[in-house]
Amino acid sequence: MLQQRTIKTITRAVGVGLHSGQRVELTLRPAQPDTGIVFRRVDLPEPVDIPISAEAVTDTRMASTIGTGGAKVHTVEHLMSAIAGLGLDNLYVDITAEEVPILDGSSASFVFLLQSAGIALQKAPKRFIRVTRPVEVREGEGQNLKWARFEPYHGFKLRFEIDFAHPAVDSTGQCVEFDMGADNYTRDIARARTFGFTKDVEMLRSHGLALGGGLDNAIVMDDYKVLNSDGLRYDDEFAKHKILDAIGDLYLIGKPLLAAYSAFRSGHGMNNQLLRALLAQPDAWEVVSFDSERQAPRGFAQPALAW
Ligand SMILES: [Zn+2]
Repeated sequence: MLQQRTIKTITRAVGVGLHSGQRVELTLRPAQPDTGIVFRRVDLPEPVDIPISAEAVTDTRMASTIGTGGAKVHTVEHLMSAIAGLGLDNLYVDITAEEVPILDGSSASFVFLLQSAGIALQKAPKRFIRVTRPVEVREGEGQNLKWARFEPYHGFKLRFEIDFAHPAVDSTGQCVEFDMGADNYTRDIARARTFGFTKDVEMLRSHGLALGGGLDNAIVMDDYKVLNSDGLRYDDEFAKHKILDAIGDLYLIGKPLLAAYSAFRSGHGMNNQLLRALLAQPDAWEVVSFDSERQAPRGFAQPALAW
C-alpha cells in the first residue's frame, strides 16, 4: 500500500512576512492520518484552524491567502510547495501572525526544516485526485492571454511558460518542464526565488506591501538587470519559481494530483480557478489510492528524500 506521510518530530522556524514585514514563528507538527494540512493561528485569543482546500483560498492578488471566518494566513504557497515536494499528507502548521515567513524567498528552507524533522510513514492509504479528462481555464486575448490546463497523466508533471519582456528575463529560459516522478524537486525547483522589479517594490511599499522584501529574499531587477550581487541560482530561475508556486498553489486542493498541468502566464489566481473548475466537474476527476507500490506512479512510492 502506498502510505500517507507526516513528519517525525516538531520543528520550528522564525522569520518575517514578505508583505507585512512582521516577525512570525512557525511550528510544524506531526498530524494523524487523514488530517490533511491544517494551518492554526495560535496568536488569536482562541486558536483558529484553517484546513487547506481550494475553497479556503480567499485572496490571490500578491500571494495565495487562505482563511476561514475572520482568520487568515497569507503567502502559503512556498511552504505548501515544500510540503507537496516532499509528499507529506498530514501536518499542523502553527503560526503566530497572518503571514508565512518568506525566509530566503524560495522553498529550500522549508524543505530543509521538514527533512530535518524526518518523514514518517503512516498506516493509511495515500489518496490522490486523478484527473480523468482535460480541464482548462483561459482569460484575455493577444498580449493579455493567459491560461492553465490539466490533462490526464499517471504521475504529476508541470510545464510553465512565462512571457516577460525584460532583458534579464529574456536571456533566460522562459519555459520549464518538471516531472515529479522523474526529476528532483529539492535539487531542481526548491531553490528558485520569488522575483520583483524595483519600480513595483516602490509602488507596493506605498500600499504597505512588500515591507519585508529585499535582496536577501527575492531576485530584484531594475529596468535592465538583476541587482542581486550573486546573480541567479538557476539559469532559468524565474520560470522555475513559477513552477514552485504552481506546485504549492495546486496542493491547496488537499491531495496530491495525478495530472499534467500546463500554463501560460498563469498566477496564483488562475491556479486557484483551475482547481475550482476541476472540482466543479465531478466527472473530470476521481479519488484513487494504490494497494501496490508497483501500480503507483513513478517517484511516488520512494521515500521523500529521493526527491
Ligand atoms: Zn512565489
